[in-house]
Amino acid sequence: MDKNDIIYVAGHRGMVGSAVCRALAASGYRNVITATHGQLDLTDRRAVREFYAASAIKTAIICAAKVGGIGANSAGNATFLHENILIAMNTIMGAYEAGVKRLLFLGSTCIYPRMAPQPIPEDSLLTAPLEKTNEGYALAKISGLKLCEFLRRDCGVTYHSLMPTNLYGPGDNYDINGGHVLPTMIRKFETARTEGHKSVPLWGSGTPLREFLHVDDLAAACLFVLEMENPPDLLNVGTGVEVSIRELAEKVQAATGCTAAIEWDSSKPDGTPRKLCDSSKLRSLGWKPRISLEEGLARTVADYRREVAAGTIRL
Ligand code: GDP
Repeated sequence: MDKNDIIYVAGHRGMVGSAVCRALAASGYRNVITATHGQLDLTDRRAVREFYAASAIKTAIICAAKVGGIGANSAGNATFLHENILIAMNTIMGAYEAGVKRLLFLGSTCIYPRMAPQPIPEDSLLTAPLEKTNEGYALAKISGLKLCEFLRRDCGVTYHSLMPTNLYGPGDNYDINGGHVLPTMIRKFETARTEGHKSVPLWGSGTPLREFLHVDDLAAACLFVLEMENPPDLLNVGTGVEVSIRELAEKVQAATGCTAAIEWDSSKPDGTPRKLCDSSKLRSLGWKPRISLEEGLARTVADYRREVAAGTIRL
């Protein structure tokens, strides 16, 4: 990538897209273009085609997606499949038809089988059934990464994908029912602290294992692979550090300074028992995460408090 290239970031208002835009600006990329949802509906094939045709984009970074935690996904698999498959097909195929030579597509490690070997290597893709709670989202992301792979193999463009583990950071969605576990926990503990509640309700058994990556580390990984001439088709991005949901709850409790007791609601789903990705391929190429969970949590709690005070929080 040249610093003067026109780079399109799809989904620049989301947590991932905004982190990618910050990283591009910090690295001196001067021509980043974006379009708000109001300006461009990515589920509208014709609109996306027209957008690409009107701009001389050299590189597209597809961060746009409908995302949510276990609550939102399990209640809305049809919408997660439909919306995400349209966004993936339109942004990838639209780029190809407009002559864009380079594209990075972002997904998530929920594309891998529920009972994949741990840590999950890239080649476990499509070897066994998916986790049911987020099957719709996963199928859409698998379709997107396969479209990139087919176009690269058959049509001479460098389209490739990154699959990050569970992400968190500034601009996250703090919706109690629809959000991911880490931001939801921050909100629950902060609310209990500021409102003096005696207990904090959390979901499931607390035993599932997850890995958490700060979104600024993912953004650095995006630039890292985009600066490579010939990156692998598919790479995982994670820290390699695994925590149980119970341990995470204790860390968030400590980071917020909340003293309320934790109550586990076993009527809520646990989801996949373990989701640690194998990031050794990306690490062997030279990328590594820089933000520990403790540091990232402290930063994110501070971001949350700032956003609450400013009234900009996504709830
Ligand atoms: P996943 O990693 O794709 O399964 O999605 P999430 O980020 O929503 O994490 C879900 C895990 O956190 C499950 O094991 C849930 O049971 C557990 N969990 C505990 N409390 C909460 C909560 O308040 N919200 C969410 N979303 N998950 C929670």
